[in-house]
Amino acid sequence: MNTIKPQPGIMDIALYVGGKSSVDGMENVLKLSSNENPWGASEDAKEALVRASLSMHRYPSTDHGSLRDAIGDVWSLDPARIICGNGSGELLMMIAQAYAGKGDEVLFTEHGFAMYPIYANANGAEPVIVAERDRVVDVDALLSACTKKTKIVYIANPANPTGTMLGEADLTRLADGLPKGALLVLDGAYAEFVEGYDAGASLIDARDNVIMTRTFSKIYGLGGARIGWAYGPQQVIDVLMRLRGPFNLSAPALAAAEAAMRDVAHTEKCRIENAKQREWLAHALSEIGIPSDTSEANFILARFASEEEAKACNDYLTSQGILLRYVGNYGLPNCIRITVGDEASCRRVVHAIGQFKKGAK
Ligand code: PMP
Repeated sequence: MNTIKPQPGIMDIALYVGGKSSVDGMENVLKLSSNENPWGASEDAKEALVRASLSMHRYPSTDHGSLRDAIGDVWSLDPARIICGNGSGELLMMIAQAYAGKGDEVLFTEHGFAMYPIYANANGAEPVIVAERDRVVDVDALLSACTKKTKIVYIANPANPTGTMLGEADLTRLADGLPKGALLVLDGAYAEFVEGYDAGASLIDARDNVIMTRTFSKIYGLGGARIGWAYGPQQVIDVLMRLRGPFNLSAPALAAAEAAMRDVAHTEKCRIENAKQREWLAHALSEIGIPSDTSEANFILARFASEEEAKACNDYLTSQGILLRYVGNYGLPNCIRITVGDEASCRRVVHAIGQFKKGAK
């Protein structure tokens, strides 16, 4: 009998299940299940990572100064108001640790990122799920769900797994309508895929209740290196800095991220190519009777006629060595999320879904 009990809420956490990366006995597996960058990281980033890994006997930087400067230069932000984390996931968790505890409420929407309830439960706060409107975050519903207990509102913009996104007017209305003492967290994991979007920086500069998180895992192709960052009001960043582990980022990860951030041409190339392939994929799927919402990210949410069809298609594609993400656990039982791949991958996935539609099993 284990008499050592965890904090309340922790046993309510459903384990996060990540995308599969292999199929037993199969080579040439195409992984389109985790929204990774099919073109990979910038060559500069790979070189920097290898170089930095030669000095592993040294501890890494504790203040991440050089990376924060690079982020500040590229996005025209004050480096003093930037914090770096072990993936943006670490920062999203730290925000809950700092601001939400027992008796507090953490809001997010029905198809929100699967980790948001975990951040709430891990810190003893109450997760509150708010309805969306046609798979889009509903600002009015969020504002009317707020109470005096609301401490954090998480939204991803663009959202995962829907790919939909709110415009500036809606984000402003949300930030301005929140109760006093509540923090709006704009999770910008996919922000770089949207041309000209500042991911909330202008909103943050004009207020004290908004923070944005960003990641190197998606457009920068560095998911395996685990690096994210956040930009927010100085007061909030100062709080998070106190919680952060002193060596939460490895030296190779820091070096790779800095080089990736400065390789603006590579990022831009990936954004343009993603948009092109995303459009092709959505169009090709609609031609075989599978609609999707307009996505602003590096994946699309394919809607099947039924839960049975979506599951059967997912199983068939797995048997063909193509890994997609069935998103029934996001409250979308008839949907499969497909990461946008390179041209050959997009063609392969559409061909396989076409075969499934023709009755292949
Ligand atoms: N937010 C969203 C919406 C995501 O989809 C992800 C990754 N799937 C993350 C945050 C966390 O990403 P990371 O920890 O790799 O930065």
